[in-house]
Amino acid sequence: MALETQQVSPGRDQDGKTLKRFLNRVLGMSCRLQETLFELLATHVASMEAADRRDGLPNQGVLSLNRGMRWGRLQQVTELMAENLPGALVLRRLCLMRGMDFEEASAMLERAPEDQEAMQGFYMRSKHEEVLLVLRRRTRDGQVAYQLVLPHDSPKTQLDGNSCTLAKMKQNSMRRITPDAAKEHWTQQHRLSETQCLHVQRGQNCGNRTCRSGKRFLEETMLTGQVLVHWDFLCALLGEKNSLVRCELNTGAVLVGLVIPQDMVARLRQSILE
Ligand SMILES: [Zn+2]
Ligand SMILES: [Zn+2]
Repeated sequence: MALETQQVSPGRDQDGKTLKRFLNRVLGMSCRLQETLFELLATHVASMEAADRRDGLPNQGVLSLNRGMRWGRLQQVTELMAENLPGALVLRRLCLMRGMDFEEASAMLERAPEDQEAMQGFYMRSKHEEVLLVLRRRTRDGQVAYQLVLPHDSPKTQLDGNSCTLAKMKQNSMRRITPDAAKEHWTQQHRLSETQCLHVQRGQNCGNRTCRSGKRFLEETMLTGQVLVHWDFLCALLGEKNSLVRCELNTGAVLVGLVIPQDMVARLRQSILE
C-alpha cells in the first residue's frame, strides 16, 4: 500500500479536521498496519520539523516535547519508567531536563558568531545575584534581538515581559561580568535548581510543595502506543484539545503520543484498565 504522506501532514495546510479525518480512517486498519503507519508518521514528522526549521515556520500539527511546548527548549528527556497497559498502550514517565551547565554555556558563547553590538556575554541580575548568558539570536524581521541562556531553566527570548531586543538590553540594569566571575554563581544555581524551586533558591518561602518554578528536572507522563486506535476514548477523557506530541529521548528513540496532565494520570490508567 502506497502512503500519500502529503495527505497526512496534520495542520500544515488546514486545521484539525485533516488530522481527525486521518485518525478516523486509521481506525479501520489492522494493528500491524497501524503500527507501521505510526512509525512512518513519526519519521514524516521528523522530516517536517527539519523543513520547518529551515523555513523558520512553527509546526502546528504535531508538537515537539523537546522544544515546542510550555517548557521551552529542553536539554534532554530521559525515560524513568514504562508501564504497559491493555490495548497496546504504554504509559511512560519522563524526566524533562532544562537549564545548562557552565561549561556548555561557555562553549556556546565561544561558538557564537560575533555580535556587532557587542552585547553578548555573561550578566548579573542585581536583584537576586543571578547570572545569565546573553546571546544574539536570529529574528525573522532582521531586528537585533537576544536570547537569555539560564543555569536553571530553558533559554528565554523575553526580558522582563518584553522581547529581548537591543533597545531593551540597553535599558536594562543587568551588569556585565566576566566568565570567571559568572562561574561560581552559575554553578551554584545549576546545582540548587536540581532540587529547589526558584523561590527557595532565592531564600524565600514557598508554600507550594509541588512548585516547579525554576526547577531543572520535571517529571511528565506520556501515553504512547496505539493512541490513534483509542483517540475518541482519549478525547472523551482528556478533552477535545489534544495534540500529538513527538519526543526524542536521550537514547535517540522517538516517542509519539499524548502528554497526560499530572492530575489525569491515575484516572486515565483506571479507565484503560476497566
Ligand atoms: Zn537569589
Ligand atoms: Zn516555589
